[in-house]
Amino acid sequence: MKRIGVLTSGGDAPGMNPAVRAVVRKAIFHGLEVYGVYQGYQGLISGNIEKLELGSVGDIIHRGGTKLYSARCEEFKTVEGQKKGIAQLEKFGIEGLVVIGGDGSYMGAKALTEHGYPCVGVPGTIDNDIPGTDFTIGFDTAVNTVIDAIDKIRDTATSHERTFIIEVMGRNAGDIALWAGLSGGAETILIPEDPHDLDNIAERILKGHARGKKHSIIIVAEGVMSGNELAQKLKEKISLETRVSVLGHMQRGGSPTVSDRVLASRLGARAVELLMQGKGGRAVGIEKNALVDYDIIEALKMERKADMDLYRLSQELSI
Ligand code: ADP
Repeated sequence: MKRIGVLTSGGDAPGMNPAVRAVVRKAIFHGLEVYGVYQGYQGLISGNIEKLELGSVGDIIHRGGTKLYSARCEEFKTVEGQKKGIAQLEKFGIEGLVVIGGDGSYMGAKALTEHGYPCVGVPGTIDNDIPGTDFTIGFDTAVNTVIDAIDKIRDTATSHERTFIIEVMGRNAGDIALWAGLSGGAETILIPEDPHDLDNIAERILKGHARGKKHSIIIVAEGVMSGNELAQKLKEKISLETRVSVLGHMQRGGSPTVSDRVLASRLGARAVELLMQGKGGRAVGIEKNALVDYDIIEALKMERKADMDLYRLSQELSI
């Protein structure tokens, strides 16, 4: 393989930039040419593609977001859209493509693979919800952003003896809520993977109050319900007045942490190695701190489970 491409797609995540940098530098190190596809699959279809040099990825290792921009593209879900994308890749002589994104983006990479075009998926999403890897690029930064917010909210919760509900991202996966809740000392964590029992939660809060606890932090993943909905339900149940903070898109931003920069560098470089070995249709990941890769079609079928041991631990430590 002499010429490869790279794109970022779907929800952006801090660490996508160091991943792009790793792909470009690793490829050039080994004598390959690299082309950047801007705006994800949208740019692939429209041919928004240009050659990247060593300097093109200078000064981005510490920046959030993605230099290649990201986009959502309905047309790429159709076979015609995918064929248009392949035609562009062929026009530019790009023989293999690295796709950095979440599970939706992986579906696009899977489609290209099924059309016989070599692709490697790199997990880039703050949600940590991709099978075949313990961690996704962006998760660590997002959790650290949430922790900053929890620590600050805790100060005011303590001063005013209030219960705060903090709504965090995570439609299907509760990892952000769980990791941030455990490390932020939240009294209660609601994740989509565990059927929540509001009576039990209310009882815990009342018990806490009975033993003199005057403030508490509840973390709710958006996939369970909104922070405001939870506040309303607790008010109806135990007349509890709460304050709600919805962290929203700030969780996607910021300079990537050391963990995310290292992970992005390792996974981006590994993706290039696979393409150099002629191995398309793979998804790279990290398991027990070792690099792994799976057939992308198989990876998408694998079940991604929440760490329920960690969840139970958080409950034990927040009594
Ligand atoms: P993420 O990658 O963060 O999960 P999305 O789910 O929005 O984000 O997916 C990003 C893009 O991947 C979509 O806009 C679309 O272009 C492409 N994509 C998603 N699902 C499919 C699919 N089933 N087939 C082909 N392409 C897809």
